[in-house]
Amino acid sequence: MGGGAGPGGHLTARPGGADPGAVVLATGARERSRAARFIAGSRVGGVYTTGALQQLVHLHGRRLEGRAVVVGVELVSWSAVLTLRQAGARPVLLTSTHARPEVYGPVHWGGRAALGVTVAGRTRVAAIHGSGQVSGVELVNLDTGARTVVPCELVVLTGDWVPDHELATSAALTADPVTRGPRVDAALRTSRPGVFAAGNLVHPVDTADIAALDGSHVAAAVRDWVTRGLGTAGRGEPVLAGAGLTWVSPGWLDRSAGVPARGRLLAWPSVAAPVARVVVHQGGLEVARRSLPWPASPGRVLRVPWSVLDSVIVGRGPVTVSLR
Ligand SMILES: Cc1cc2nc3c(=O)[nH]c(=O)nc-3n(C[C@H](O)[C@H](O)[C@H](O)COP(=O)(O)OP(=O)(O)OC[C@H]3O[C@@H](n4cnc5c(N)ncnc54)[C@H](O)[C@@H]3O)c2cc1C
Repeated sequence: MGGGAGPGGHLTARPGGADPGAVVLATGARERSRAARFIAGSRVGGVYTTGALQQLVHLHGRRLEGRAVVVGVELVSWSAVLTLRQAGARPVLLTSTHARPEVYGPVHWGGRAALGVTVAGRTRVAAIHGSGQVSGVELVNLDTGARTVVPCELVVLTGDWVPDHELATSAALTADPVTRGPRVDAALRTSRPGVFAAGNLVHPVDTADIAALDGSHVAAAVRDWVTRGLGTAGRGEPVLAGAGLTWVSPGWLDRSAGVPARGRLLAWPSVAAPVARVVVHQGGLEVARRSLPWPASPGRVLRVPWSVLDSVIVGRGPVTVSLR
């Protein structure tokens, strides 16, 4: 694509004319670091995010030894368990602040049974101890306040995603108030004409197939921009996450943008619900309510049919999507 990082790191895109250009940001997401999770204790070796662990093992063939505690119980946490085993380490415990499994039952129960790992719910890692190398993690039981130290030599921090939004921020794109990833409409157009955003940068995080679908979806909007100069977002209503949700994507409803990839609004639940009941408000009034035939869980994306926004009237004020 034409366009790119202009002076001062700002993104540039040129509509129409002899050299039309477009910029598609797809910088992905990463897991929050130890410091960002406020985990106290010693500065020691043996603490990784899943991303760092998988690069070390799968790209550089590193072997690892000892017992490992995995912080988080999302799909990616089980992926970290498999990577640890492949590298020679022994995962002994997964910890979660939530009471219920964050992944689908077969993954949770199958993983526990097949891989022999204990899962501790309602616990928070308060500190990592050691001298030079990890010697243990200090866990707090969120219900009783009791503290225990679990001996281990490795710690893997999983989930707790943050979009890699530095380029988007440097371009002063309108951002989601919670994730700080760029806000997009259903055509993946950002607030800046000719600048698009796709993948886990705008929905941290969904699986690889969904990120790939975004790639083919954004191509149509890029074509419209390059050939006809149609590229502005932000003319519709903001779609915001309400109670029970951390973020929703797309974050703008502009009818000219069509429907998102697979006709789905993506959302990240902050609570678990065996049946997901989605409620849409606009201007303080409830405009739609839908019970979905699948559960909601904090560790994975909730897919909501885009048609739940059919009764929203653009021009009547911001829209809030909540989980009851
Ligand atoms: C550790 C980890 C493990 C995962 N495991 C799975 C899995 O097993 N199965 C699954 O389906 N999904 C998995 N996912 C989720 C998802 O599938 C992947 O993140 C997927 O690759 C997302 O695609 P993307 O295009 O959004 O971003 P990415 O594939 O992450 O691509 C982003 C690219 O942008 C680059 N970048 C970032 N910032 C900048 C910058 N400022 N300037 C220039 N370049 C930049 C990055 O280096 C990277 O190359 C995982 C995600 C993570 C983080």
